Amino acid sequence: MDEHPLPVLKEPGSSLSSKVALVTGANRGIGFEIANKLARLGNHVIVGSRDLRSGLDAARRISSKGFVRVKAVELDVTDEKTVETVKSVAESDFGRLDILVNNAAILLDEGGFPSTTSLDCVRSTLEVNLIGAWRLCQVFVPGMKARRYGRIVNVSSKAGSFEDLTGSNYAPGYSVSKAALNALTATLAYELREYNILVNAVCPGWVRTRMGGTGASKSTAEGADTPVWLATLPDNGPTGGFFRDRHRISW
Ligand code: NAP
Repeated sequence: MDEHPLPVLKEPGSSLSSKVALVTGANRGIGFEIANKLARLGNHVIVGSRDLRSGLDAARRISSKGFVRVKAVELDVTDEKTVETVKSVAESDFGRLDILVNNAAILLDEGGFPSTTSLDCVRSTLEVNLIGAWRLCQVFVPGMKARRYGRIVNVSSKAGSFEDLTGSNYAPGYSVSKAALNALTATLAYELREYNILVNAVCPGWVRTRMGGTGASKSTAEGADTPVWLATLPDNGPTGGFFRDRHRISW
């Protein structure tokens, strides 16, 4: 675990100051940039990383720029023990969790077909991309409900929209996992509609990361923009939606 003071840099459009945020898979890619932007907006950030050393390095890179608290914690979203540890750290070090960004995901079956793809791959994919996010929601929603404040951002993909599912063949296990994550987003948003807990899904676009590849059209900063916007929505912001480039898109 690691902690660093950072200068608080306010960016236009932010409705928050000093909320406590957890980003899963924040050691690299879009997750790192979401954590970085949330910290620059003045929020305390828990960098969830399944490899602690890589999380510590990410926290150090974020904290080299400023004054809010950034803490790296080992977190494998498929491992209940590490999820419970993150919950303890959020409570003991920050007193609460206000913002949960379910960003961690794997893509194992690009180019596969539903009729032949390995079900072991599908199972592993669902375990991280769907159940992992669901597990974190179950762990943190009770506290958010008690405090009547929460922002949950599920980083999904256009590959999980029914429009894409019926018109292309990208990666069957991954696409189905994102469609299921979208369904979780909608049902959870409905459950929490009276609690000032806004739950939304986001497609970051095609982003230059290990998953997106070097030929992708967006930088990680561009990919992180809509997730951070959703994580910092004002109380009258939308809930139960699917967004891309700050606009609602169809499920
Ligand atoms: P990435 O570069 O592959 O990074 C994935 C992150 O998830 C890594 O930090 C990885 O940790 C972490 N992770 C994987 N399994 C985990 C587990 N079991 N527990 C905790 N962390 C785990 O991917 P990315 O492009 O930044 O993608 C971020 C999100 O955007 C994902 O939800 C992805 O589906 C979505 N997305 C990306 C694109 C794109 O073009 N890049 C497009 C649409 C949607 P390790 O470093 O330990 O592997």
